[in-house]
Amino acid sequence: MSEEVKPESVSLYPASAAATPEQEVVCIFGTGDLGRSLGQRLLQSGYRLVYGSRKPHSCGPIPPGAQVMSHEAAAQSTSLVFVCVHREHYDFLETLAPQLNGKFLVDVSNNLEKNMYPEANAEYLQRLIPGAHVVKAFNTLSAWALQNGPSDANRQVYLCGNNPEAKQAVAVISTKLGFTVQDRGSLSAARELEDFPLQLFPEWRLPMRLTVGLTAFFFFYLLTRDVIYAYVNEGRDISFRIMMSLANKVFPSVSLILLSLCYLPGVIAGFFQLYRGTKYKRFPDWLDRWMLCRKQLGLIALALASLHVLYTLIIPIRYYVRFRLAGSTISQIKNNKTSSFDTTMAWRTDSYYSIGALGFGLYLLLGISSLPSVSNALSWREFSFIQSKLGYLTLFFCTFHTYLYGWDRFLYVSQYKWYSPPGYMLCLVVPSLVLVFKLLLLLPCVDKSLSRIRQGWERTDPENDSKKKSLLA
Ligand code: NAP
Repeated sequence: MSEEVKPESVSLYPASAAATPEQEVVCIFGTGDLGRSLGQRLLQSGYRLVYGSRKPHSCGPIPPGAQVMSHEAAAQSTSLVFVCVHREHYDFLETLAPQLNGKFLVDVSNNLEKNMYPEANAEYLQRLIPGAHVVKAFNTLSAWALQNGPSDANRQVYLCGNNPEAKQAVAVISTKLGFTVQDRGSLSAARELEDFPLQLFPEWRLPMRLTVGLTAFFFFYLLTRDVIYAYVNEGRDISFRIMMSLANKVFPSVSLILLSLCYLPGVIAGFFQLYRGTKYKRFPDWLDRWMLCRKQLGLIALALASLHVLYTLIIPIRYYVRFRLAGSTISQIKNNKTSSFDTTMAWRTDSYYSIGALGFGLYLLLGISSLPSVSNALSWREFSFIQSKLGYLTLFFCTFHTYLYGWDRFLYVSQYKWYSPPGYMLCLVVPSLVLVFKLLLLLPCVDKSLSRIRQGWERTDPENDSKKKSLLA
């Protein structure tokens, strides 16, 4: 049976008096969702728990083993209080200022949108009770996550505050609950912490926009060249190709461009450093932002490459393909003629598929090594070997795979429908440029200079140097 202390048996004496020495008492104001989940974990971790509620006699369900009291009595029972109440209701705390003086107050609150109030909730709480030491913490965890315990994806408690002892006390509790702590500094960082839960995939925005833009471009480009051209010039309706053939051209094209866009900023950064002769100057903002979303670009590229593989594997079961195959077999039988085996074609298709399969295998390896659970187990050198060296090899294989797909098609005028180059040619531009630029950076003389710069060497400007010397003289 639950040992929950029912409202009839509400305890109004300081709980610390009844606590065993090893059982530290912690107080939570508010018996709502977060208060309940947090309380449950605190009890499981060996704390004694006291709730402060407006209605100690008729509050909602609380975890078994906890006590409920009035706010005043609960505040007196401990030195640390979690305020699990919405900011809109903080006014009542002002009347508790004498009881909360010198106590550690943990503000867990969030807002519905950014910049709702002129000051952060935690700073507001500190202003209401100047005698208390406010710490902002736990607001980035949901009630659900707290109930289920820390998992790989949700292990961190961010905290900030002005009082080191208060922060230390909250850090100890967080660690006991199984979380890792990240101290974000003074209470002025509270607004930043309060904005965390309001973010909506910020690092995915640019990669998603790029993906949608490139997909739309290739779709309409190929639709015009493949389907509309056939209809206008030959009167053939091959619109059914939109579903499979067209999609299977759009996915790999966008995937290859996105993969090359993961490596292009690194190459640009290399040229910037060579040009400036130092690594200590900041990159332009756009390059910084681009570098920060490389993982997301790579993951979307991998998803599209996987779709390409899937679409390719189901080609043989397509009605259109089976129809064409049967037709060509029947016509050979009718004409009593067997087409000869084309060794060049066999080499071409086998190389094309084989290089594609190798590229996709490496693509998968890149994706797996970017999972936090895998990358955490790798040393920095191992991680950069996979992401950089194997990454370039993946880009090379996938680009080569596309060149093999094109083979000698670029020589035929019929390929340039309405004077436009085939889609595969367009998607080869960026990856080919990235590979050429990377090769330039790998030239021994360039590589040597870049390595020196990355180890901290700086090119000195002779004009500036002489000016400095004359000033010193
Ligand atoms: P909730 O379920 O609505 O509970 C809030 C509690 O505040 C109520 O149960 C009530 O407890 C107390 N309360 C309500 N009105 C009050 C008033 N006028 N005066 C004093 N106390 C009042 O909310 P919640 O989801 O637990 O969230 C509590 C805080 O945690 C919020 O600031 C929220 O932003 C933050 N937070 C929540 C989550 C989450 O997943 N839920 C995650 C992160 C942060 P009594 O009836 O016992 O007084």
